[in-house]
Amino acid sequence: MILARVLQDKLDAKRMVIMDGATGTEVARRGVTIDPKLSWSAKANITSPDLVRDIHRDYILAGAEIITANTFSTSRATLATDGLSEQTEEINKQSVALAIEARKNCEAEKTVVIAGSMSSFEPKGNPEINPLYEEALEDYREQVEILAGAGVDLIILEMFVRTVDLRAAVEAATETNLPIWVGLSCERHNDQIYMGLLGRHGGETIADAVAAAASPNVKAFCIMHSPPEVTADALRELKAYTSLPIGAYAHGGSIEAEIGKAPKISKVGQFLSDTDPEKYLDYAREWAACGATIIGGCCGTTPEHIRALVDSNIIDTRG
Ligand SMILES: [Zn+2]
Repeated sequence: MILARVLQDKLDAKRMVIMDGATGTEVARRGVTIDPKLSWSAKANITSPDLVRDIHRDYILAGAEIITANTFSTSRATLATDGLSEQTEEINKQSVALAIEARKNCEAEKTVVIAGSMSSFEPKGNPEINPLYEEALEDYREQVEILAGAGVDLIILEMFVRTVDLRAAVEAATETNLPIWVGLSCERHNDQIYMGLLGRHGGETIADAVAAAASPNVKAFCIMHSPPEVTADALRELKAYTSLPIGAYAHGGSIEAEIGKAPKISKVGQFLSDTDPEKYLDYAREWAACGATIIGGCCGTTPEHIRALVDSNIIDTRG
């Protein structure tokens, strides 16, 4: 909890906090096949642990102050899509252990925060289909208890596009007493910003999400896994609805071409190169100007993107 306190002090002082970049697409970029229709990069925790640990190390060496355990797609319901639900405890524990080992190997135990990620409930990619609240709550409760027990300092909720599972995730995470950061995926449709993904939305807005995530443990809101072009406007909207610290970690490139299509891993590989670290830094400067004091990277970003942020004067930016 000491690291969580240090992190909160940075947020309270409006100091820029730099997160890590992508893990899933980085696993793919380094040669391990992952499937967006199944459990994404979850399997890599047990089939390629050295590679996952190396990714965490490279983000720490790049200067990230927060690394995210590879638990985005390791809840029981998501693992079940890949026939791995029996290994829920093993995979979640292993994911956190790899992040902790990387931090230890870098002698960064006193400085680097380890976040446990939980993501939107199944079906993940379809904001129009609402899951049952109780089913989502049960799934998040199991995962967040394992993450907390394994030693994460922070819970980050990622790629939420519906309030029903967001409420369930916030309720489950609040039971651990860990701080919670809420990550929303947003898209623009007919000049209005909605929580949405891949060209689809369920009609819910950023204001709806902020209202749904009411908990004393929620300490920040981020716009993440969203097109960089939409992120700045979404941040401005977010700032109007919350006085909590705000942040951004977008895709490393435009996915406009992906709208309406299921992402394919080769396409993910393509949009990796769309935004180089310098271009990403330009976006990040705009997000900082919108008041973001938490910046990292999502799909397609690499340790080089994070290094570019760390080496820039964005660190000194005040929102
Ligand atoms: Zn992403």
